[in-house]
Amino acid sequence: MPMDALTARKSMPFQDVVRRLLEVVKDDQIKVNEPLEYYTYTKIGGKADILVLPATFSQVKGILLRAKQLQVPFMVMGNGSNVIVKDGGIRGIVIVMTRLISISLQKNQITAQSGIPLAVVSRYAWLHHLSGLEFAVGIPGTVGGAVCMNAGAYGGQISEVLERAVVLTKDGQCLSLTHQQLHFEYRDSVIQRESHIVLEATFRLEQGDGDEIKAKMDDLTQRRASKQPLEYPSCGSVFKRPQNDYAARLIQVSGLQGFRIGDAQVSTKHAGFIVNLGHATASDYIQVIRHVQQTVLERNGIALNHEVKIVGEDV
Ligand SMILES: Cc1cc2nc3c(=O)[nH]c(=O)nc-3n(C[C@H](O)[C@H](O)[C@H](O)COP(=O)(O)OP(=O)(O)OC[C@H]3O[C@@H](n4cnc5c(N)ncnc54)[C@H](O)[C@@H]3O)c2cc1C
Repeated sequence: MPMDALTARKSMPFQDVVRRLLEVVKDDQIKVNEPLEYYTYTKIGGKADILVLPATFSQVKGILLRAKQLQVPFMVMGNGSNVIVKDGGIRGIVIVMTRLISISLQKNQITAQSGIPLAVVSRYAWLHHLSGLEFAVGIPGTVGGAVCMNAGAYGGQISEVLERAVVLTKDGQCLSLTHQQLHFEYRDSVIQRESHIVLEATFRLEQGDGDEIKAKMDDLTQRRASKQPLEYPSCGSVFKRPQNDYAARLIQVSGLQGFRIGDAQVSTKHAGFIVNLGHATASDYIQVIRHVQQTVLERNGIALNHEVKIVGEDV
C-alpha cells in the first residue's frame, strides 16, 4: 500500500490542509470526512479525513508535495476493488485516481492514465483489433491498481503486456519505469514496495482478429459470472494462491463456505470470496479473514496470506 511513512501532525486542522490543497485542485475535487464505503467494492469502510480527486499529473504531484510539507500521511486508491478500509477510516489524505482517464493508441501500444478502468482498456484494445488484454475484461480495478497489484486472471497478467509505466516517487520525482524496473511478481510489483504512484501505463499488444478477441472476452465474462458471486459486494479473491494449491479449494475442504460473522460471509458460490450480505463492517470482514486463515492452517497446515490490502484504523 503506497502509504507515506510520515507521521500525521494530528494538531493540524483540516482547514489548513484543505487550504493548501486548494492551491492545486478545485473545490469540487476535495471532500472532508468522506465515507469510504462509497469508494470501495465491499461497500464498507470508515471516513477519510480528506479525499482528493486529482484530474492531472501536476495535481497529483502538487497534492503529494503538500502532504509531505505538512507532514500529513496519504494513500492512493483506484477503484477500491482490492482494499478493505477499516471502520475507523483513514487519517490524512486519500488520493483517488479515478479522474485520470485519458487513453491513446500508437500502433500496437495503448497508453492509459491510471484511473481508467482496466476493463475499459481491454474493450478499447478489442475495438482496435489488439489482442493481449482479453484476460482483463472482468477485473474491476483501474490501470494504476492493476499495475500495483500485477492483476491477472485466466492465465494472463499485467506483467505480460506492460511495456512501461510513468510513476511519481514518494519524493515527487516523475520516472518512466520499464517492465524490468517494475520487478513484477505474483500480485506484487515495485510500486507496492517503493510506494510509487502510478500515473499512466503503456501496454504492448499484438494485432489480432476482432471476432476472436471478442469471443474470448465473452467467454471469460461468462465464466466469471457463473463462478463468482458478482451479485454481492466483495473485494474479489481475498487470499493469494498458495504454492501448488488454490486458496478456494483449501477453504472449501475446511468446511468454511457459508461461514459468517455479521453480514460478512465466505461465499457459498466461490470459497475464495468473502461477500457483504448487506451491512457488513470491516471488523466483521477482518474477523472472517482471520478465522479462515486459522482454520485452514489447523486443518491443512497451510498459511494463507491475504491479497487484499487492509488499510485504515479501528474504531
Ligand atoms: C468482483 C471482483 C473480481 C476481481 N477479480 C480479480 C481478478 O480476476 N484478478 C485480479 O488480479 N484481481 C481481481 N480483483 C481485485 C482487484 O480488482 C485488483 O487487484 C485490481 O487491480 C485493483 O485495482 P483498484 O484500482 O481497484 O485498486 P484499489 O483497490 O483502489 O487499490 C489496491 C492497491 O493498489 C494501490 N493503488 C491503486 N491505484 C494506484 C496507483 N495509481 N498508484 C499506486 N498504487 C495504486 C492502492 O494503494 C492499494 O494498495 C477482483 C476484485 C473484485 C471486487
